[in-house]
Amino acid sequence: MPKDESVYSYSAVLMGSPILLKLFRRDEALAGRVFALIKRYEDLFTVNRAESEVMDINRAAGQRPVSVSAAVYQLIKCAKAASVPPASAFNLAIGPLVKRWRIGFQGDSVPPEVDIQALLAITQPQDVLLDDARQSVFLAKPGMEIDLGAIAKGYIADRVRDLLRKEGVREGLINLGGNVQTLGAPEGGWSIGLQKPFAASGELVGAIEVVDKSVVTSGTYERYFEQDGRRYHHILNPHTGYPLDNELDSVTIISTDSLDGDIWTTLLYGAGVEAGRQWLARRPDIEAIFVTKRREIFLSSRRHFRFTLLDDGYRLID
Ligand code: FAD
Ligand code: MG
Ligand code: MG
Repeated sequence: MPKDESVYSYSAVLMGSPILLKLFRRDEALAGRVFALIKRYEDLFTVNRAESEVMDINRAAGQRPVSVSAAVYQLIKCAKAASVPPASAFNLAIGPLVKRWRIGFQGDSVPPEVDIQALLAITQPQDVLLDDARQSVFLAKPGMEIDLGAIAKGYIADRVRDLLRKEGVREGLINLGGNVQTLGAPEGGWSIGLQKPFAASGELVGAIEVVDKSVVTSGTYERYFEQDGRRYHHILNPHTGYPLDNELDSVTIISTDSLDGDIWTTLLYGAGVEAGRQWLARRPDIEAIFVTKRREIFLSSRRHFRFTLLDDGYRLID
């Protein structure tokens, strides 16, 4: 654990992602509890391994409902609510398409059109049936699969924040790879780098300063492959079955809860800049930074953060 002024950094690799915890006190025991908590949730939510509660639900698709723990039920209920509106680009039942494309994993390639059309029929969020009394989830059609990859990190980041707060931590930060959740305001605020799309990791287009906020970034540059001169990234359009095709390279959400950040990055990826800014006008609690392929950076407003442009190849548009 390198000591950098008064900051203590603790790191781990969980959920296939580098995890970083920053505290202003030396507390290995607390860091251990944070990583154990993340691991416990990973074990419940993962679809990257054969065993988890979500995999139990997926295996029983078309057969029977599965009763699950409160955390899994809550997160699935929230993910379904975000998925059902017809204009939503978010879809918790996207699993079969994610598995077929394998974007960012070995063996990724463009599936035949017929496969995509067939899989669209088993990715309908209305076919995820919930029973509050039994805390059970039933996937109505065989082959259906829930994928919480776009939302689980947000839920977990919020639970880590709650644990740190309960333990009396006034200033701290957890980075789950894409999801940063912060407590307090060291030196007036936390500075979080905004990754430059398709550049080396750590090369920044800007810096975001926040106090007690979550900062979530979703980017098409994170996981993708190229085939026949075209780029295919990992955020899929649930209505077409293909990667979302628009002007965006990344969307960042600043919000209190990282769960909202996760939902809104996907929603706005689907909406694009123009419609996205209209949606945001009705949600003063959610703020966004859009980075476009044309090297423009659009800010929704700056009530809850400060932004500094660090790359003069980009143009800032308020
Ligand atoms: P986001 O933009 O937040 O989400 C994109 C991901 O959401 C896609 O990868 C896909 O899974 C899903 N998705 C795609 N389109 C949609 C849509 N329209 N609506 C809803 N969801 C969509 N990675 C590994 O390499 N190895 C691991 O063992 C591993 N384990 C993981 C365990 C857990 C519990 C979680 C949450 C993630 C894990 N990951 C692992 C990472 C995972 O495979 C995804 O790459 C990651 O969740 C993508 O998150 P993101 O924040 O980068 O992108
Ligand atoms: Mg994410
Ligand atoms: Mg992301």
